[in-house]
Amino acid sequence: MSEAAPIDVCVVGGGTAGWMAASMMAKFWADQPVRLSVVESPDIGIVGVGEGSTPSLKGFFDYLDIDEAEWMPACQATYKLGIRFVGWSRRPGFGSYFHPFPSDLDDRSAPAFYYHAFARRNGVDLPAHPDRFFLNTLLADQRRGPHADHNFPFRLAYGYHFDAQLIGRFLRGWATRRGVEHIEATVAEVERGEDGDIQALRCSDGRRIEADFFVDSTGFRSLLLQRALGVRFLSFADNLFNDRAVVAQTPLDDPTAPPCETRATALSAGWCWRIPLTARSGNGYVYSSRFIEPEAAEREFRDHLGLDADAGVRHLEMKVGRVESAWSNNCLAVGLSQGFVEPLEATALHVVQETVQRFLEAFEEGGRTARLRERFNHQINRRVEGIRDYIVCHYRASQRDDSEYWRACAGIEALSPSLRELLGVWFAGGDLAEEIKRQQIGAYYAPLSWHCLLGGYGVYPDPARLRSPEARMQRFDLARIDDFLARCALNFRAHAEQLAHG
Ligand SMILES: Cc1cc2nc3c(=O)[nH]c(=O)nc-3n(C[C@H](O)[C@H](O)[C@H](O)COP(=O)(O)OP(=O)(O)OC[C@H]3O[C@@H](n4cnc5c(N)ncnc54)[C@H](O)[C@@H]3O)c2cc1C
Repeated sequence: MSEAAPIDVCVVGGGTAGWMAASMMAKFWADQPVRLSVVESPDIGIVGVGEGSTPSLKGFFDYLDIDEAEWMPACQATYKLGIRFVGWSRRPGFGSYFHPFPSDLDDRSAPAFYYHAFARRNGVDLPAHPDRFFLNTLLADQRRGPHADHNFPFRLAYGYHFDAQLIGRFLRGWATRRGVEHIEATVAEVERGEDGDIQALRCSDGRRIEADFFVDSTGFRSLLLQRALGVRFLSFADNLFNDRAVVAQTPLDDPTAPPCETRATALSAGWCWRIPLTARSGNGYVYSSRFIEPEAAEREFRDHLGLDADAGVRHLEMKVGRVESAWSNNCLAVGLSQGFVEPLEATALHVVQETVQRFLEAFEEGGRTARLRERFNHQINRRVEGIRDYIVCHYRASQRDDSEYWRACAGIEALSPSLRELLGVWFAGGDLAEEIKRQQIGAYYAPLSWHCLLGGYGVYPDPARLRSPEARMQRFDLARIDDFLARCALNFRAHAEQLAHG
């Protein structure tokens, strides 16, 4: 940052995104003359449903030097080793699969999976379901936590499940103890200067809040970036159909052995998540209102969960897409105000974290120059589209035709050139990892993820057309891989035990 600071930075919105942004900024500018404030409306609630993360959230808490033993119990958090997709494919043997976060040991077993998937795509009958090949998958099956005993020197990536209300409250406490001012007020009007920059906010109680820089974390409203600055929203509705959710909380199935996975179960016009916390489960049916009415979705959701008629549910609308540029003038949009790629891979907070981190790096490098702003917006847009392509692939590659919704998903035509080429390589029996490298998209989703998705849904030739493998093709001994992973798993204690002992 330039010597000319001090500056005032005002974050508008006290949802998870607003408090994550304020916390990261408080840490990053701890020794700088930056005054940070968070304006939060006492009358407008938070969306309150983002309860699953990718492994990047561990990086977030590590960056803030907050120990798991401190934040996890406060947020009823559990560990997450990956996501289990259930019922997305009707192909025999592919009724579910697990998308694992990576581990240090994947290089011992992933090559066998990639080879088998390659051979099967090329007409050879080798087993190529992903679940047999990854340590995280086995640990999730056995409900073991992600921390290995000290004598086992390999690590694995993991994420978390947490209560969306509690995590915001926790971060608010952390940030305000570090000097972030918390202002309870509802912004009614945004004042702009002649240069187009935001000058001040007018609140409904008459207060006027000036700042040099603003962060818009007002959720789907996007009060500053979209409404006041008029930045365009680009909808993803042509290839991501889901635009609503109905959500409910339920007791844990077995409180003595909480799962360490999110479950994403396909229903008739979307899918339902099940997220286990320490004290309850969170559930939500994400669906497309083009294919099912909210009342029918609620009925299906209740049946799926076995909910009593008097159990409360909440209906939500979702705006799926992204803004043209998350950083415009003196305003950065973070969270739902910058866009949302539906929750299937629980990536929203990951994007929040990356947006703030890249913004801080750009700001530090040269303040508010147009060149840095453009580079930043390009990077974030690519990131969001990388996530979108992977999620679109879930729907496009799903193997169901039992409802109008699933038939429409399988027929999605609006594919990005990148996804089209990737699928082309898969169907042509080519080298998928090489294609991911060529396109430089491995940082968004690695070959492991793409292989698991396409292999997990059984996107292979018809089994009747497969030929038996020749001896030279059986180069991997799967029994040895089973044994190797089973013995590795013995070094990880039960998830419940790891939660209890911190
Ligand atoms: C169905 C669904 C499922 C999801 N699942 C996941 C998931 O598993 N993982 C994940 O990472 N993400 C998930 N998300 C996304 C996640 O919920 C959000 O990214 C996250 O909660 C951050 O939201 P936010 O802070 O941007 O907005 P919000 O939570 O909506 O917060 C908005 C804030 O702005 C304030 N505000 C609004 N207007 C004004 C005003 N005029 N004046 C002052 N303050 C104002 C409000 O008071 C509130 O504090 C999901 C989202 C949906 C819809």
